[in-house]
Amino acid sequence: MTQPSMRVGNVEVEGLSDGILKTSLDLVIGMDRAEADRLVGGTENGSLYIPVNNFLIRRDGKIILIDAGAGNTMQPTLGKLPDNLRAAGVEPAAVTHIVMTHLHPDHANGLVDDAGDPHYPHAEIVVYQTEADFWLQPDVENDEDRVKKNRARTAINLRPYRDRIRRVRDGEEFSGFTPVLAPGHTPGHTCWVLAAGSAGFMAFGDVVHLSAIQISHPDTALTYDLDKDQAIKSRRRILDMAASERLAIAGAHVNAPGFGYVVRKGPSFAFEPAG
Ligand SMILES: [Zn+2]
Repeated sequence: MTQPSMRVGNVEVEGLSDGILKTSLDLVIGMDRAEADRLVGGTENGSLYIPVNNFLIRRDGKIILIDAGAGNTMQPTLGKLPDNLRAAGVEPAAVTHIVMTHLHPDHANGLVDDAGDPHYPHAEIVVYQTEADFWLQPDVENDEDRVKKNRARTAINLRPYRDRIRRVRDGEEFSGFTPVLAPGHTPGHTCWVLAAGSAGFMAFGDVVHLSAIQISHPDTALTYDLDKDQAIKSRRRILDMAASERLAIAGAHVNAPGFGYVVRKGPSFAFEPAG
């Protein structure tokens, strides 16, 4: 399978699929069902399939992955990242850094195999401080079940990397990647901006889950968001930033090829796929 790629200034960003995630329009909040169905081009009883995209950047002698996929923990159509990485000519053991947009299952469970051993034995994990703190703290009495569940899983995902976690704070950077906090989906959900010569690139994470809906209708939320109102504010701010600064974006769930540019369209936004 050929993997999509995009050149941004002096940086080559390679797309690597982890597979396809089955989801549902039942999770959409704030949009009429028929309208949602129309925007995604029709569904089977509301079911639809979204990509789980990861990205590879080779820079300054480093081999950097953006997010780590779902592993085999969610659906049999996922967990393809290590094989697709090998197909791109990179052994998982050669990955030096994994930059995390956030620590949800479809981004972080692929850090380890069934035995809890690391898929990327030499990689350092780069994660925004707030995100690491939130998921690594002990359970709190009134937490939602989904938070407790993902805290337990985060402990497994990060255990083999515990001596190699680089927590980035606001104002810091990693190898040219600057974090832009975009909270709401998770408390420390982070977009990473990379200056690439005369151009700029942004790893967009889960600013949108359903790209056919949420770029043109940014006020539409999904039940996946821990704080949907904050997620809507973050989405509007990040889409605005991507359009204003003409940043090439790579989104974890943006439809193929997963890359492109956000442009203004009336009071809202549209997407121009790259390539
Ligand atoms: Zn996701």
